[in-house]
Amino acid sequence: MVDLKGQYDFIKDEIDQALDDVFQTTSFINGIAVQEFQSNLEHYLGVKHVIPCANGTDALQIALMSLSLSSGDEVITPNFTFAATVEVIALLKLKPILVDVDPKTFMLNVDEVEKALTAKTKVILPVHLFGQCAPMESLLALAKKHKIYVLEDNAQALGAVYTLSNGKKAKAGTLGHIGATSFFPSKNLGAYGDGGAIFTNDDDLAHHLRGIVNHGMYKRYHHDVVGVNSRLDSFQAAVLNVKLKYLDFYNEKRKTAALHYNKAFAQSDTLITPHREGECDSHVYHQYTLQIKKGNRDKLVQYLENQGIPCGVYYPIPLHQQKAYADPLVEDSKFPNTIQLCKEVISLPMHTELTLDQIEFISKQILSFVNNV
Ligand SMILES: *Cc1c(COP(=O)(O)O)cnc(C)c1O
Repeated sequence: MVDLKGQYDFIKDEIDQALDDVFQTTSFINGIAVQEFQSNLEHYLGVKHVIPCANGTDALQIALMSLSLSSGDEVITPNFTFAATVEVIALLKLKPILVDVDPKTFMLNVDEVEKALTAKTKVILPVHLFGQCAPMESLLALAKKHKIYVLEDNAQALGAVYTLSNGKKAKAGTLGHIGATSFFPSKNLGAYGDGGAIFTNDDDLAHHLRGIVNHGMYKRYHHDVVGVNSRLDSFQAAVLNVKLKYLDFYNEKRKTAALHYNKAFAQSDTLITPHREGECDSHVYHQYTLQIKKGNRDKLVQYLENQGIPCGVYYPIPLHQQKAYADPLVEDSKFPNTIQLCKEVISLPMHTELTLDQIEFISKQILSFVNNV
């Protein structure tokens, strides 16, 4: 699904040098590389504050902690996402309100969000799933009207650009009150271990966030708020500093690969290629996710496995059907699109080292499967 070795080989000298610099300084925690990365990412995103942390799940949790919510407050989030998004909501004793997604874009459906609003709603938590921006402008308008927060889960769309209707552009994750991202190795900007970051343009939230990531400390051994220990270590920051310079180049490679896949599958009436809403910079293809009709998804997965072609199913089970999050009052009939997607989606190899030959081979195999069943 990814080729981290090929990617490393391409930037080996720079990475090795950056890691060696960390060895030489031996400042493994909060070293100069972390500070540099923080300011480089602020510059890249065009956002006032970046707060690095240990991973993307922490980033979401810390973001929610900074909003001073009370137990039982409701957070609206899509049913079709990685479990981390709702896990942190539940962990903080907040109430996840799952809503159905748009069948074409797989993003939070704005009408469904509006229907789910109650007096207890405090946060809308859209996910920029598979690399594409959620409908931020409508969500922000709704949030403003109801005086609630928007927290963007941007773990999958770092570098994607959202264009507002007045033509103004902003990087995904920077339009809401807070954005959270992950540097898990396979993400668009991946470290060589775990890492994450939170971003905001709000000075007060940034101050709160900086305290929370560091045991609630602003002054050594003075604990003003309940915090956690969540740090990006210097080695990961050193790797990320090198790779951030290549992020736009990497995202371009992903877009090109997606175009080749799209072309290969254009004639098929069994396969639905990913729908991109908006301009070409609005989707950075963290995943290239097809839908296969006629109930053959699992057979295709098996077929590809037999051919030695990796693939993934993100995500096979809607969150409301997961044991940890199941609520007897919530019925399947509320989520027709999510339920259908869980049966139909399949993600193909998508990474920065993918060659045209590989794409042709993979698509030929898939077409030969769908044309023969
Ligand atoms: C990867 C991911 C996370 C969690 O990131 P980690 O760094 O693995 O903790 C959260 N949300 C989404 C949508 C993700 O894809």
